[in-house]
Amino acid sequence: MSNRTPLMAGNWKMNLDHLEANHLVQGLAMALSDAGHDYSKCEVLVIPPFTDIRSVQTVVEADGLDIKYGAQDVSIHDNGAYTGEISTSMLTKLGCTYVVMGHSERREYHNESDELVGAKARKVLDAGMTPILCCGEALEVRKAGTHVEFVLAQIRAALAGWSAEDVAKIVIAYEPIWAIGTGETATAADAQEVCGAIREALRADYGDATAEATRILYGGSAKPANIKELMAEADIDGALVGGASLKADSFAQMAGFY
Ligand code: PEP
Repeated sequence: MSNRTPLMAGNWKMNLDHLEANHLVQGLAMALSDAGHDYSKCEVLVIPPFTDIRSVQTVVEADGLDIKYGAQDVSIHDNGAYTGEISTSMLTKLGCTYVVMGHSERREYHNESDELVGAKARKVLDAGMTPILCCGEALEVRKAGTHVEFVLAQIRAALAGWSAEDVAKIVIAYEPIWAIGTGETATAADAQEVCGAIREALRADYGDATAEATRILYGGSAKPANIKELMAEADIDGALVGGASLKADSFAQMAGFY
């Protein structure tokens, strides 16, 4: 049993307007409360679109909820002429504590490189929030059997030059692209193979303390039916959940995997 607190993170992607966001957070809080959720056994995080963050903050603060919230992306710039971008200080002022970067959808549709993803993670950590650094291979890479090398190369490129202390503060999310939104989950053993390899690479690069402290999530069609099996694996510390996080009862059930 590790000292790492499990994390159930719901990536809402481009779904829900601000009223629907209020409704979902209230429903989630109620479902967690009804289930007697113990937040010390699993942290619960929602990651709404930017336009919903203020609404989520209002509900969380008004009701004194333990649910955390964050953003799906961030700019590497502080402010200025960057149309359409959102800065870390805008997010910290809204009470965000986590930011996702390098999701495969942003890598694919916005050509985000490992270097840019690493710069975003640096910016987020410097602003006092926790980066959730996504990595994961496409189906062709998996079929070629080079998925472990591929994923480790993504992480090493993003974190080049980082200190062991800083790496220990981030969250890494392993999300095989072929399992995202497809209903096709990697088996628990497939997910463990890569999450375990990530932890061993952290051990080799940064030492035991960092390898034991860094949380590694699995993402890709995680749902109530498979969460227990995934969480039973030694190196899986939680899940980054897309579709199933849009339903309060399903997501609350996943957070209560323990
Ligand atoms: C995701 O996009 O981070 C994700 C894991 O989506 P889904 O759970 O819907 O596969």
